[in-house]
Amino acid sequence: MKKWNMIIDVAECTNCNLCTLAAMDEYVGNEFPGYSAPMPRHGHKWIDILQKERGQAPIVDIAYVPTMCNHCDNAPCIAKGADAVRKRDDGIVLIDPVKAKGRKDLVEACPYGHIWWNEELRIPQIWTFDVHLIDQGWRQTRGQQSCPTGAMRSICVEDDAMEKIAIEQKLETLKPELGTKPRIYYKNLWRYSTCFIGGSVSEETNGVVDCVNGAGVRLLKNGATIAETATDNYGDFKFDGLGENSGEYLIEIAASGRVSKAVAATLGVSVNLGEIRI
Ligand code: SF4
Ligand code: SF4
Repeated sequence: MKKWNMIIDVAECTNCNLCTLAAMDEYVGNEFPGYSAPMPRHGHKWIDILQKERGQAPIVDIAYVPTMCNHCDNAPCIAKGADAVRKRDDGIVLIDPVKAKGRKDLVEACPYGHIWWNEELRIPQIWTFDVHLIDQGWRQTRGQQSCPTGAMRSICVEDDAMEKIAIEQKLETLKPELGTKPRIYYKNLWRYSTCFIGGSVSEETNGVVDCVNGAGVRLLKNGATIAETATDNYGDFKFDGLGENSGEYLIEIAASGRVSKAVAATLGVSVNLGEIRI
């Protein structure tokens, strides 16, 4: 059977928050019997945009990751919720607004922090994949409809087809180590979850300091080369996709065919090594 999934491209998200607002527009003050009770006006973000700034000026970037209920196939909320939480045949998870009354304990069941407690109605709530619209024949969610960059795309396919797409497009899910099997997939998640080492290479000739274009830069770990690049017009280089807290690295810079400089770096988080004079 075909099931719903969402693919979100982190590289395309600009943090405009229109998807968040679209969810609020859809659910605040609106009840959809059998699906969801109204979202409160304040305090809930059923679609929540995470952000991370990496590096230090001038080599700095920022990534935005829209998050929501992942409609997990192996959902801890279902395990804890008994008949108050169920998964539909199309993959969508629903918390029953009647049966879940008073079940504040369910908030802690979600390892993604995406069960929101409605104090006024005394019910736990999630983003429902706009299932009341899906059941009316919609093929996209309100968030997707509102997204100006196309960062968000919902698709309804068989699980094996989705698995193939995930491999082909190098999609990832959040916290895969938990084994929850999310149905929200991310493209270019490395922009949020990994680190870089960058720097700017310069040299002084006859008292004039200039950036070095085309210098060879090697990244070594434990004595082995793991990546190579060359400086750009501004003398800048960047090695991306490195693990947070992944320890010590050596950066070797070669201009005119000789190793001109070796610089050590310890990751932590993303680092701009600044100007490196050779
Ligand atoms: S993201 Fe949280 S609330 Fe949604 S299905 Fe998974 S465990 Fe349940
Ligand atoms: S509407 Fe699109 S671009 Fe804007 S925050 Fe949401 S996913 Fe990102």
